[in-house]
Amino acid sequence: MQEKPSINGFLDHARQSLQILDQSIADAQQMSHVKTGRGHDNESRLEWTRELRNLIELRNSTLQSIKHHMLGRDYDTGQFSEPEDIWQFERDFHKYVTADPWTQEDLELECEECHKSSIEVEEYDFDDEKRKLCEPCHEKATSQQDDAKDEPPEPISAQDVKVLRQSAALQIKVLRTFPIDQRIAKLEELLADKPEVAPGMEPAYEAYRDVLQKELDNAKATREHAAHHPTS
Ligand SMILES: [Zn+2]
Repeated sequence: MQEKPSINGFLDHARQSLQILDQSIADAQQMSHVKTGRGHDNESRLEWTRELRNLIELRNSTLQSIKHHMLGRDYDTGQFSEPEDIWQFERDFHKYVTADPWTQEDLELECEECHKSSIEVEEYDFDDEKRKLCEPCHEKATSQQDDAKDEPPEPISAQDVKVLRQSAALQIKVLRTFPIDQRIAKLEELLADKPEVAPGMEPAYEAYRDVLQKELDNAKATREHAAHHPTS
């Protein structure tokens, strides 16, 4: 059998500690029961019992730290997380801690794009999915995603233009109830205001401004006309 390269990760050390502790516990258990022979009196049995208790406590705290390492802390509370799926946790525990020592290969993931396995493969968050990718494939995927974002926005629909025209028409309807000077002032004010328009919305906004501009021209013409032909 091929020699497995050591990785010396946290779980490797923890698993080694557990193995040694299990052996020590078995030894201490045996020693605490030995009744006869040199150096085996009540006092030494008591000593071994104390040793056994310490070893069991150490084993429990080692298990606890493995559990914490595997589950991590809750982001909000800072408390150690509890397993959501207890069976999956037990499976993971068995797989990573109590089963055969793992190898570098066990840490490799397969890239979804090029299907090469390597420890460089990571799980990345995309807009609505997680993908396992190697470094070059991840770079390719993100630059493709950026390209998609740079694409020109969907052209505005005729329906949107219609809605904006209608809203301009409604504004004009209200403005027409104003005295002519106020109406002109208000229309000039509306046209002077040039808000930032969402990409793709420019044509609709232009249509909206056209409607206001026409109304302003009409209002000015009306005022001009009234000035020359005063009604009594
Ligand atoms: Zn790849």
